[in-house]
Amino acid sequence: MDKFAYTPALPDGLNASATDAISPDGSPELGKQYVIPARQGRAIRLKKGQLLTILNPHGNQVCDFFAIVEGVPGEFLSMEHCRTALGRIYVGLGDILVTNRRRSLIEIVEDTSPGVHDILIACCDLPRYQQLGASEYHDNCADNFKMSLLAIDEQIIHVPSPFNIWMNIPVAASGEFEWKPPVSSPGDQIVLKAHEDCIVVMSACPQDMTPVNGLNSLPRELEFQIDET
Ligand SMILES: [Zn+2]
Repeated sequence: MDKFAYTPALPDGLNASATDAISPDGSPELGKQYVIPARQGRAIRLKKGQLLTILNPHGNQVCDFFAIVEGVPGEFLSMEHCRTALGRIYVGLGDILVTNRRRSLIEIVEDTSPGVHDILIACCDLPRYQQLGASEYHDNCADNFKMSLLAIDEQIIHVPSPFNIWMNIPVAASGEFEWKPPVSSPGDQIVLKAHEDCIVVMSACPQDMTPVNGLNSLPRELEFQIDET
């Protein structure tokens, strides 16, 4: 096989994200608490006005968050466009996150954590783990994104840069940054409101080769539920 071969919409390996969708088409049951098992992803269809609550049961776990406009696979939540819209490299309570067409898509309406999240760093992928020294397949957020979509019969060629909820990447005045453990606590939650119908993908980041999921580098599960406004 050509070692440079790459099919962007297909994962480099497999885990249960490819099969264990929350429902055949990703539509959620309102008010039901769902689990994203450690190292896996899930896709859901979120309607305009609905609220998505993401819970961090252990406090240490980063959630790589993606959103694609329903029916418009080329329009998705875009961190570079968010940075332009916000005039900042951090996000906070009340901020509205925008798409690559600069439309409002996701609003942060509640956050019980200290509000330390990342909008700079690309999601992890197999080459990232190989560069860190992994010799076998390693679960990763790019593949979780692709598999979660395939599990609800969707396919997106591009993996957008994610909203990394609870990921702690302090940036110094020099421009240098560090990879730090989350400052969130067990039971912290963030509530996001959809401004358009969208497909949301969340990945419980399987990073265990840097401390972004805590000093013990033990990826854990996340939970979520959807409610009407
Ligand atoms: Zn990751």
